[in-house]
Amino acid sequence: MRVEPAGVVMTGTCSVQTNRCVARTPAPITAVWTLPGSRQIDVCSACLDEQVRTGAWIVEGARPSTARSSFVTDQTPGTMIPPGTPKAE
Ligand SMILES: [Zn+2]
Repeated sequence: MRVEPAGVVMTGTCSVQTNRCVARTPAPITAVWTLPGSRQIDVCSACLDEQVRTGAWIVEGARPSTARSSFVTDQTPGTMIPPGTPKAE
């Protein structure tokens, strides 16, 4: 299933609850949108990693081999700079 991170962090309980879940009780979680259809799923970082690692979810725009605990830092600002941008010197 393809999912797209909503990019928000909130407090709540995880809807996925794998055996690695860290948000069975209210904790910082994020949300992803399923594609297609845009259904929102609340998920903790551990479950998001687990779903991606097992191949259950494919995160749009993410590198498939990464299994990092922080999905927020995967948004590398440097990738937004187009190639060939003149340097300010
Ligand atoms: Zn979880």
